[in-house]
Amino acid sequence: MSRLWSPLVHRLTPYVPGEQPKLPNLVKLNTNESPYGPSPRVTAAIQAELATGDGNGERLRLYPDPNADLLKQAIARHFGLPATQVFVGNGSDEVLAHAFMGLLQHDAPLLFPDISYSFYPVYAGLYGIEPRTVPLDDGFGIRIDDYLPEAAGNAGGIIFPNPNAPTGRALPLADIRRLLKARPDCVVVVDEAYVDFGAESAASLVADHDNLLVVQTFSKSRALAGLRVGFALGHPALIEALERVKNSFNSYPLDRLAIVGGVAAIEDDAWFRGSCAKVVRSREALVAALAALGFEVLPSSANFVFARHPQHDAGGLAAALRERSIIVRHFRQPARISQFLRITIGTEQQCALLVDALTSITA
Ligand SMILES: *Cc1c(COP(=O)(O)O)cnc(C)c1O
Repeated sequence: MSRLWSPLVHRLTPYVPGEQPKLPNLVKLNTNESPYGPSPRVTAAIQAELATGDGNGERLRLYPDPNADLLKQAIARHFGLPATQVFVGNGSDEVLAHAFMGLLQHDAPLLFPDISYSFYPVYAGLYGIEPRTVPLDDGFGIRIDDYLPEAAGNAGGIIFPNPNAPTGRALPLADIRRLLKARPDCVVVVDEAYVDFGAESAASLVADHDNLLVVQTFSKSRALAGLRVGFALGHPALIEALERVKNSFNSYPLDRLAIVGGVAAIEDDAWFRGSCAKVVRSREALVAALAALGFEVLPSSANFVFARHPQHDAGGLAAALRERSIIVRHFRQPARISQFLRITIGTEQQCALLVDALTSITA
């Protein structure tokens, strides 16, 4: 606290990301990063960028393209949309922040699930948006009926991840279509950070729905959390709103290496499909192994599972795993999920180490 802080800063409750410990040899299953490195084309493109000119990164003296046009065009080609329907940002968190400010900040409340990505209430606080949480159903699923005007009343915007985080449960596109039709005057943001691991993307609905913003990231399925690339797909008017916010905040959110690396990543579809398929195979094996140990595991369409053990306290399990150098995520709040662990899908070897550790801890 300081008398020099602005009143806004006094009121903020910042987001706390999963820890990034500096210890070697950790089995790090706490922040949903890819267990595999990115497409080799990404490093080749970054090295080529650094080798241009004097061969010593001379190009870094120049500002990057403020519009990151090459990256927008590559993403647009990938989704079969015009580049005017693509926005790019410094990770999807930044894209989401601009959406909160440019599209969700209205005089009516913002609807999102009570158990969801914990950055949403933080952005609501930052931008002075009234949050209205909607409880998940008994199976930890989103019930679209609860977001319709009959049930929820007036809304200034709606946001949810699909699949949801930290539950991993996915919604069918038919539900999203129904919501878009029932709320024509409200922007619906679908945060698809995990969509590539088994859910249906709403990208195919963008052409026909001017109130839909689909947000995706290169951090999970493209193994580039360290490069910071995220994007949104939507009607050109929604994209223009994001551009207006971005150009009032930071002209160059994507650096030269992120732009060329991002283009290479989105163009390497074979690597992408192979990597996602490996994660999905490991997830199915891990779900079976956890169930055999007596865990209850929610059906996951993501690169993590959300699981609880009826006889073992989640905090105790997380601490015992940590003693064995395995880190998973345990949310103490809200109470309804305090007995769950969110476990990122690692390599086959990491999953095996986790199962061995849980076998001895729960024995
Ligand atoms: C990881 C994650 C993001 C943010 O990803 P970036 O690394 O900022 O692109 C956004 N939404 C959800 C639900 C996530 O889990």
